[in-house]
Amino acid sequence: MMIVMKPGATGKEIQAVIDRVQSVGARTHISAGDEVTVIGAIGDREHVARLELEGAAGVDRVVPILKPYKLASSQFRHGGRSVIDIAGRKIGGGSFAMIAGPCTVESREQTLEIARIVRDAGATLFRGGAYKPRTSPYAFQGLGQEGLRMLAEAKAQTGLPIVTELMDLRDLDAVLEVADVIQIGARSMQNYSLLTEVGRSGRPALLKRGLSSTLEELLMAAEYILKEGNGAVMLCERGIRTFETAYRFTLDLMAIPVLKELSHLPVIVDPSHAAGRRDLVLPLSLAAAAAGADGIIVEVHPQPEEAICDGAQALPTSEFADYMDRVQAAADVAGKALRTAA
Ligand code: PEP
Ligand code: MN
Repeated sequence: MMIVMKPGATGKEIQAVIDRVQSVGARTHISAGDEVTVIGAIGDREHVARLELEGAAGVDRVVPILKPYKLASSQFRHGGRSVIDIAGRKIGGGSFAMIAGPCTVESREQTLEIARIVRDAGATLFRGGAYKPRTSPYAFQGLGQEGLRMLAEAKAQTGLPIVTELMDLRDLDAVLEVADVIQIGARSMQNYSLLTEVGRSGRPALLKRGLSSTLEELLMAAEYILKEGNGAVMLCERGIRTFETAYRFTLDLMAIPVLKELSHLPVIVDPSHAAGRRDLVLPLSLAAAAAGADGIIVEVHPQPEEAICDGAQALPTSEFADYMDRVQAAADVAGKALRTAA
C-alpha cells in the first residue's frame, strides 16, 4: 500500500501517518520527493486498510501496490527512477556506466595493469572476482582475501570504485572492506539469507539474474535487499538458459525495457557471460546501450588466451578504448552519457 501525501503536508501529519501504519505492525518506507512525500506501507494489507488513512490529515490518496514485489516496483517510486551514487559516480538516470575488469583477480600486476587501462579509457567502475562461483569444484576458485587486497590497491591507485562478488556470508566483512558494490552472482540470486545480509550491510548491490530465473523472480530477489532499507540495488541481465546451444546463454534484451517498466531500479547488462564468446560482446553491448540499459559490465584481459577463467569472452585490453567509443555512440542513441574519467 502506498500513502501519497498532499503537496504541503506537514512533518507532523506525515509522522502521524507513519505512527499509525507502524501501530498495526507494518513497516514504512518513506520517499520524500520535491513536492510530495509517499509512504510505503509494507505488511498485512487488511490491517493497513482498516486504518482508513484516506481520511487522515494531509493524505491525498491511498494506492494499493498490485505486484508481489513492492519496494522494487515502479509504482512505489511513482514513476521516478532510482539513481545510485557510487563514490560520486551516478548509476541510472541520464548516465551510462561502464564496469570493466578481469573475470578473476589473478595477480597484483595483472590487476593494477587492467585497472589503469580501463580507468584511462574512461570506465566508471572496476570489476574483478576474488571469490569465483565455478561450475567445477576442481577449477580455480579465486584468490580470496589476497585478491581483495589487490583490488584495494587497484582502487587506491586508480580511484576506481570496486565491484566484487560475495558468495558466502562468512566473507561479508572482508568484502565490505573493499567493495563499493557487492556483486551477487547469478547462482546466488536466490540465496535469500545472503540477500538479506547484503541488504542489512547497506552497501550498493549488483544483483545478477539467475540462469533460469524470470524477471519476477529477479525482482523478488531485489525485494529481499530493499526490504532491509538498502535502496541501492542494480539489476543485471546476464543471459538465460534457453534451448539454443550455439552460444553460452541467450541475452534477454527484452528484459531491459520490461524491467524498466516494472521497476525503478537501474538495469545493467553483462554481454560477456551471456555470450561466452568475445566476438559477440560488441554487438550485444551496442544493442544493450541502444535499448536503454543504464550500463554494461564487461570482462577484459591483457592476454585473454592466458586468462585463468573466461578468457574466451574477455576483450583484449588493447581494444578497450575503441570499444568504449563504440558503446558511447550507442548510448547516445538512448540519450545517455558514458561517464569519462576526470
Ligand atoms: C562473473 O561476473 O564473473 C560471473 C561469474 O557472473 P555470473 O554470476 O553472471 O555467471
Ligand atoms: Mn567471468
